[in-house]
Amino acid sequence: MKGPILTIVVPCYNEEEVLLETTKQLSAVLTNLIDDVLVSRESKILFVDDGSKDRTWDLIEKEMAENPFVKGLKLARNVGHQNALLAGLETAAAKSDCVVSIDADLQDDIGVIRTFVEKYWDGFDVVYGVRDKRETDTFFKRTTALGFYRLMNKIGIHLVPNHADFRLMSKRALEELFKYKETNLFLRGLVPLVGFKSTKVFYDRKERLAGESKYPLKKMLAFAFDGITSFSITPIRFVTFLGFLAVIISAAAGGYALFQELTGHTESGWTSIIISIWFVGGLQLLAVGIIGEYIGKIYREVKRRPRYAIEVDAFSNHGQSEQQPGILMSTVGK
Ligand code: UDP
Ligand code: MG
Repeated sequence: MKGPILTIVVPCYNEEEVLLETTKQLSAVLTNLIDDVLVSRESKILFVDDGSKDRTWDLIEKEMAENPFVKGLKLARNVGHQNALLAGLETAAAKSDCVVSIDADLQDDIGVIRTFVEKYWDGFDVVYGVRDKRETDTFFKRTTALGFYRLMNKIGIHLVPNHADFRLMSKRALEELFKYKETNLFLRGLVPLVGFKSTKVFYDRKERLAGESKYPLKKMLAFAFDGITSFSITPIRFVTFLGFLAVIISAAAGGYALFQELTGHTESGWTSIIISIWFVGGLQLLAVGIIGEYIGKIYREVKRRPRYAIEVDAFSNHGQSEQQPGILMSTVGK
């Protein structure tokens, strides 16, 4: 029996300090998996150099010459973690049956890659690595992350909590993922949308092997903001809601001002001014909100997201003769 071809995709940005150790440890993992016939001998590690400014690519080239597992992909400039990862996934998918993505700093437990592969054998198309505890993160990072998942859930974006980009995906799940052509990539949000049978594997997240985090606060905030605005038009809805609120308040305030006017409690001119301020302000917000609704529609249209993914198609080949089991197998079986 031949195992599936596994490719481990590792995006790297200025990772010269960890690259050799990472290669060593991942190679050991692959060797074990191959020895136990869990994956094919053709399995590889694909390093994606995301426009590093240090010796990262030199090291990848050197490893390629010495280590048969190692392959490299060099991007022309820094495009950020998500895009680099996608580049790696698209390149890897063509020659793999399943792909594991993992960060270069080995904060994620490479020991569970074996469990990922076992789950793949059990028939799961997507296996999420989920952090058990976040003790190694700072208090700040932990609370902001928790708040982030709560907020995302509230506005209808269902992420797998405490899951970063450490996961296994089967070839067919990846092919569905690639149909999402959006430019603002937020893979963690997209993968659950793809569907298929999925499961979680829990692990402890460790400290970074060496070097510094490539996600400083500024990038983290931008990432979170991107995540929200690429998936939800709730913020626009909120403006519409505010507009309605302001119009209603302006009606109440208008009633009050008129009452003051009629009972002779006001300076002349106050009533008309106060009513116009509230009413016009409310109308403006409402108008912005309505325009926003249309922009929201445009935004969803331009993404051209796929509207479905087929898991089993027992129709397309019906009536075809038994002489083409290959076609049948490729649509029905894995
Ligand atoms: N990374 C990348 N391009 C970037 C920033 C980061 O490819 O522009 C890679 C980085 O090399 C690492 C992964 O993304 O493999 C996650 O980055 P990091 O570990 O610094 O993030 P943290 O774990 O601190 O959130
Ligand atoms: Mg890290």
